[in-house]
Amino acid sequence: MTGITIALSKGRIFEETLPLLAAAGIVPSENPETSRKLIIETNNPDVRVVIVRASDVPTYVQYGAADLGVAGKDVLIEHGCEGLYSPLDLKIAKCRMMVAVPEGFDYAKAVRQGNRLKVASKYTKIAREHFAAKSVHVDLIKLYGSMELAPLAGLADAIVDLVSTGGTLKANRLVAVEHVVDISSRLVVNQASLKVKREILQPIIDAFARAVEK
Ligand code: ATP
Ligand code: MG
Repeated sequence: MTGITIALSKGRIFEETLPLLAAAGIVPSENPETSRKLIIETNNPDVRVVIVRASDVPTYVQYGAADLGVAGKDVLIEHGCEGLYSPLDLKIAKCRMMVAVPEGFDYAKAVRQGNRLKVASKYTKIAREHFAAKSVHVDLIKLYGSMELAPLAGLADAIVDLVSTGGTLKANRLVAVEHVVDISSRLVVNQASLKVKREILQPIIDAFARAVEK
């Protein structure tokens, strides 16, 4: 393979990466929302895009199945950075990782009393590190989606989840009580690819960097 492969997830990452690709002169030939294709050619015969789950982007790049990828900081922290070079904050798909509890649950008091909290999250590594740093005792419950349901259904006292407008929390009578970390998406690069394919990769990375600064 002489060309390069870029791993993206469909939805906001694909949409928000399009302008950055355009700045590098790369235009995908199809939209993954409407096409069922998982490999999308571009106007550049040396560049193709593969569509993967958001949480699978680091894996594709780590193993060199993709040379470049775009992944949320949430996904990168959970996955770990082994084999990945992440040179650029793309400042897209911005949101915040928050602790949220049902309205009326006195989180501060529970923490003060040293209560053991049941916390549900898709982001168990981030949650574990957050509560360990605060010396709060937690039992973590791994979920894959619809975190907001967990406290309402009696599965957990609190959740750790991504929040942007807060609309989903509000609709489910939850309130954010603690900020964990600010999230945005980063460019990730396979370390070996960067050496072997620098001639084609570096101009793309540079174009992304310039576009982010605009
Ligand atoms: P999957 O659908 O495969 O379970 P996902 O729900 O994490 O994955 P997306 O919703 O496309 O996939 O989110 C991709 C990335 O966008 C996340 O990893 C996160 O960094 C960021 N993100 C998630 N939710 C929001 C949001 N509400 N606003 C802005 N950015 C978000
Ligand atoms: Mg989502």
